[in-house]
Parts: sequence; C-alpha cells; structure tokens
Amino acid sequence: MAIIELKHVNVDFANHTDKTVHAVHDVNLSIEKGTIFGIVGFSGAGKSTLVRTINLLQKPTAGTIKVNGTEFIKDGQQIITNKNLQIARRKIGMIFQNFNLLNEITVIENVAFALKHSGLKEKEINAKALQLLELVDLKDKANFYPIQLSGGQQQRVAIARALANEPDILISDEATSALDPQNTQQILSLLKKLQQELNLTIVLITHEMAAVKQICDQVALMQLGEIVEQGNLHDIVLRP
Ligand code: ADP
Ligand code: ADP
Repeated sequence: MAIIELKHVNVDFANHTDKTVHAVHDVNLSIEKGTIFGIVGFSGAGKSTLVRTINLLQKPTAGTIKVNGTEFIKDGQQIITNKNLQIARRKIGMIFQNFNLLNEITVIENVAFALKHSGLKEKEINAKALQLLELVDLKDKANFYPIQLSGGQQQRVAIARALANEPDILISDEATSALDPQNTQQILSLLKKLQQELNLTIVLITHEMAAVKQICDQVALMQLGEIVEQGNLHDIVLRP
C-alpha cells in the first residue's frame, strides 16, 4: 500500500527578478508503507521543497497529494480544513540537519514538549518521554541539556521527539549531514531499527550516496526540480 502518493505535483516560486522558479516539476511519487525511501540530489534540486509538500507545509501550485489514505490536495486545491491539516501534520515526524532542539530546556523536556497537545496528563507525558528516550538509547541523558550532548546524541533526542505522536512517517531532511562518520552510522542504524521495529516509513532526503546505499529500499534521483529516475535501490544507477 502506498502511504505517500504524489501525482503531477508542481511547486513554482516567483523570484525577485519576476521569473518563475519551478522548484518541483511534474513529480510523481509512490512510497510504500514500511520502506525507507531515499530522495537524492545536489543542492538546489528541489528536495526540501518536495518534502515540505509531503509534510503539508508547502502548498503545491498543481497536483494531487495523498498521505496515509487521505487526499489533502486535489488538482492543486486543498480539500480538507486547515485544522484537519494541522492534525494530520502531527502524524508526520520530521528531523533536520541542525536538530532544532530547544537549548534552554532539558532533553526529556524537549521530548515532552511534543506531547503538549496529546491530551495526556503530566505524569503520563513524562513516562512516555522517558520511554521514547529509551527507544533511542538515551535514557541516561534525560536531565542533560542538549548542548551537553554530542551531535549524534542530539539527533537521537530529535528522533525521540519526532516519534512522540506516534507518526507513521518520519521525514529526515539531511539529518546526518552535520555529523561525523561515527555518529552518522549511529543514526543510520537507529533509523533502520525504527523501520524494523515500528514499521515506520522513512523518507530520507540526502546528498550522501553512502547513506542511501546503506539503508534505503527505494530511491528517487532529483535534478532541477524533476525526478529523473526512481525505483529499487539496486536497479538505480547511483552517480557519485
Ligand atoms: P534542495 O533542498 O534540493 O537544496 P530546494 O528545494 O531548497 O532544493 O530549492 C529548489 C529551488 O527552489 C532552488 O532554486 C531554490 O532557490 C528555489 N526555492 C526554494 N524555496 C524558495 C522560496 N521560498 N522562494 C523562491 N525560491 C525558492
Ligand atoms: P561522540 O564520540 O559520540 O561524538 P563525544 O565525544 O562528543 O561523543 O562525547 C562523548 C560524551 O561526552 C558524550 O556522552 C556526551 O554526553 C559528553 N559530552 C560531549 N560534549 C559535551 C559537553 N560540551 N559538555 C558535557 N558533556 C559533553
């Protein structure tokens, strides 16, 4: 079953010279539940814009977007309410290159923060946050502040936070790009473990071919806003 389906999606931006930038051009994408799907391309290829449309943050100029069985955008028009869009967005976890943690609160508070709208009681929130930290093997750092952790550990906190609302989809936007090889390995192994244990669907945006080769099941190559090739990892020619 496809958990993410994009049909003929376009995203145009008007830039300062009044020329239109086709950041995403006629993209068709079908991502199966439980897979790790890599989206690879050089800087400026349109990867971030594409994931922002998948994450329902960026409205496309044209096309149809279906996520988790719900059609959100049909022929370029949003067909659900903003409130429902917001609720649906909580079911899509996201991690970034720079972690985006709040540095003035502790690790466990960062994870608990994501559960603010969950309806759980404070005690339940703390128990759940601790459980999530255990999942990423950081229970012993619960009361540390983010800057007291290594980059890889901070990214694991970000992953725990992204999983707080039990999303079916985790989008990783260059999540290992700021990490050294050892921490990169740690994060890639963790993502693989989450795919296997939680049947999580992971969309991995990266310019690092090694990461794609290591953990992705399927891959799409992006160039100048277009997907130029997509399929099983082993059928796609991965250019350096
Ligand atoms: P990538 O993530 O692959 O580096 P992006 O999606 O960030 O690529 O950018 C794709 C193209 O769209 C680039 O030419 C970029 O300059 C342009 N672009 C991205 N966001 C905007 C925006 N908000 N306004 C205008 N142009 C944008
Ligand atoms: P790694 O080898 O995984 O990159 P580091 O060498 O950065 O990890 O850190 C090793 C240990 O030291 C980690 O457990 C981390 O919590 C701790 N640590 C790293 N940086 C700091 C810091 N600035 N203040 C306090 N503890 C730190």
